[in-house]
Amino acid sequence: MTDLSGAPLGPHDDDKPHEECGVFGIWNAQDAGAMTALGLHALQHRGQEATGIVSFSETGPEARFHTHKGLGLVGDVFGDARIMASLPGTAAVGHNRYATTGATLIRNVQPLYAEFEFGGLAVGHNGNLTNATNLRRALVRRGCIFQSTTDSEVFIHLIAISLYTNVVDRLIDAVKQVIGAYSLVVLSRESLIGVRDPLGVRPLILGRIPHPDGQVGPNNSKEAWVLASETCALDIVGAEFVRDVEPGEIVIVDNDGVRSIKPFGDRRGRFCVFEYIYFARPDSVLDGYGVYEARKRIGAELARENPIEADVIVPVPDSGVPSAMGYANESGIPFELGIIRNHYVGRTFIEPTDQIRHLGVKLKHSANKAMIEGKRVILVDDSIVRGTTSRKIVEMVRAAGAREVHMRISSPPTTHSCFYGIDTPERGKLLAANHDTEEMARLIGADSLAFISLDGLYRALGHKEGRDAGKPFYCDACFTGDYPISLVDLDEDSRARPDLLTGAH
Ligand code: SF4
Repeated sequence: MTDLSGAPLGPHDDDKPHEECGVFGIWNAQDAGAMTALGLHALQHRGQEATGIVSFSETGPEARFHTHKGLGLVGDVFGDARIMASLPGTAAVGHNRYATTGATLIRNVQPLYAEFEFGGLAVGHNGNLTNATNLRRALVRRGCIFQSTTDSEVFIHLIAISLYTNVVDRLIDAVKQVIGAYSLVVLSRESLIGVRDPLGVRPLILGRIPHPDGQVGPNNSKEAWVLASETCALDIVGAEFVRDVEPGEIVIVDNDGVRSIKPFGDRRGRFCVFEYIYFARPDSVLDGYGVYEARKRIGAELARENPIEADVIVPVPDSGVPSAMGYANESGIPFELGIIRNHYVGRTFIEPTDQIRHLGVKLKHSANKAMIEGKRVILVDDSIVRGTTSRKIVEMVRAAGAREVHMRISSPPTTHSCFYGIDTPERGKLLAANHDTEEMARLIGADSLAFISLDGLYRALGHKEGRDAGKPFYCDACFTGDYPISLVDLDEDSRARPDLLTGAH
């Protein structure tokens, strides 16, 4: 099976960018392991390939860490009560993985755990380090023995060889050497630590669970603390949102409460704008802005910028739904669920053979003929990566009797690959990197195609002046090629293979 340019498709090429990971950590809570499993369940959309929890218990015969990891969904890996019983303690960190660096081997599943001279330490990482290959090479030369192929293990070795004595200073030493987009949750015997990269590209938030009046929790605390990739993971464990961890901030939670260190000073962030468009769960609030509301506003802006006469607005479910609602509200054209998504199609079912993969779209989506037949349809989706799914959806809607099919996309054209933790194909395989909008419309078989503009996207997110070329507020590199964090490893590679950045192959 091939994409629209004839390039072969791999087993993970389902024509959507993929989030790499979700992280969760909790301190001072009864059943911290079970709370972490719940948090990871709420963050399942950020990674479905593997999951893991490391907990710490101070009671019993000895204080120690406990680990369980597995390949698969949170419910599959932690669904057994005996497994949850093997994760006792009042503190834990957890991780959901979508593998972009390192194969999906059990030894790559996080949190990574290691014993140091100061005791055990568990690290969960969401993001991607752009100088990991360089650092790894240097660390191996110094004698470090890597257990996994994931870039996250670099943190473990940098902490191990640091000459500082305490955990926090060693961690600061480590983050000053890495370059990239990352959010970390770190668990030691004394503390839970959250770290966000200097530009805050990947999300991390702080929450609190007050203990009921008059009660105290473990360690005589009045509250439990939570770190998580998104606020939806707070809701499921009954925590209240405190604040976003700031770009470049290290938040340390211990029995004295919460403190903050900013080893990089105060920074203006470049949060990933694609979190608002597609990755984050609609009920999350990120960097002070509700994702659901953001998507509706993006849809409304898309309608203002790209109006067309039609009979019905149809979202490509699920991620296209809020922006289609925004488009419908703004345009006054009725909104209908003209495509129904089957939520019970597992990846294992659609992956094994090319023939089954070809049917993949029909397995996931089917046309609701009564809402489409004889009508001029506007389909609203969040992005076009390779275009293979868009073409099949357009075909399916036409086959259901649509008179016209117009496609509207709630992101600007995806013209560049992401190197900050989102799995996108290389540039040469991105439809928008190689074709203008008119050609793309022809390739996907739509009567018309339009994307929200970059300035329109910024306006929808509350920046009236648009992108503000000199000081953009977000990372938008996959739409602009303006990479805010240097691509150290890739720049070295691209001296030998310039096509990696230009897509010219
Ligand atoms: S390149 Fe795109 S997907 Fe990657 S962090 Fe930047 S905005 Fe997000």
